[in-house]
Amino acid sequence: MENSRTVAFIYAHPDDETFGCSYLIRQIADEGNQAVLFTATRGDAGKTGRLGEMTREELAAKRDIELEKAIEILGISAMEQAGMGDGKLKEAAPATLQELIADFLRRHEADVVVTFPVDGISGHADHIVIHHAVNEVIFGGKAPSVQKLYYNQLGSFASESSSVLKIEENGRWDVKRQALAAHESQILSIERVFGKLGSDVPPHQHWETFELAWERGVHFPVKAEAEHTIFDDLK
Ligand SMILES: [Zn+2]
Repeated sequence: MENSRTVAFIYAHPDDETFGCSYLIRQIADEGNQAVLFTATRGDAGKTGRLGEMTREELAAKRDIELEKAIEILGISAMEQAGMGDGKLKEAAPATLQELIADFLRRHEADVVVTFPVDGISGHADHIVIHHAVNEVIFGGKAPSVQKLYYNQLGSFASESSSVLKIEENGRWDVKRQALAAHESQILSIERVFGKLGSDVPPHQHWETFELAWERGVHFPVKAEAEHTIFDDLK
């Protein structure tokens, strides 16, 4: 699309995008911009929720369908899965993972990138590997179209030493709830974080937060005024 901007979400598993970024992704799509998603794995080492036992291949196939549903609900315009070892990203060659991510960002000419913070939000080892791989790609200039990098923090995150973009729920809980429900095999971890999915916005879900980690060579720039959108100050 002409004049539209592209935000790339770089994650480890199907559902990482929905947990932390649903309001933001839907807002990007609603405003005519592009949200694109890369997941390193198909999540086939995960749990199966209330679906009973499944082989890894069955779970991978199920999670592919779940992710297809979720990205349609969220308005993600392009999605790629690298099919790397779920739970085993630490064992992958860092250069291979970095090149996959860099290639994805270059092909989509991403303007902005969103990924995990250093603690991976949940501490999951795969999340932390993705965080470091994205840093290497962006800080190393391997995806030259990228102007800004954000770390997706928990909703209550605040900081004095960095800029934090807050995306208000603004009527989008219903979209997030539907996208979460699409990840049916993950319902137990979803309910741990969000409670039983209902029409009321759960506590702590009134906004999503994104810490600005890097902008055109500057690490953790502190802005005089809080940013209003993820596209603020792009060239
Ligand atoms: Zn994950």
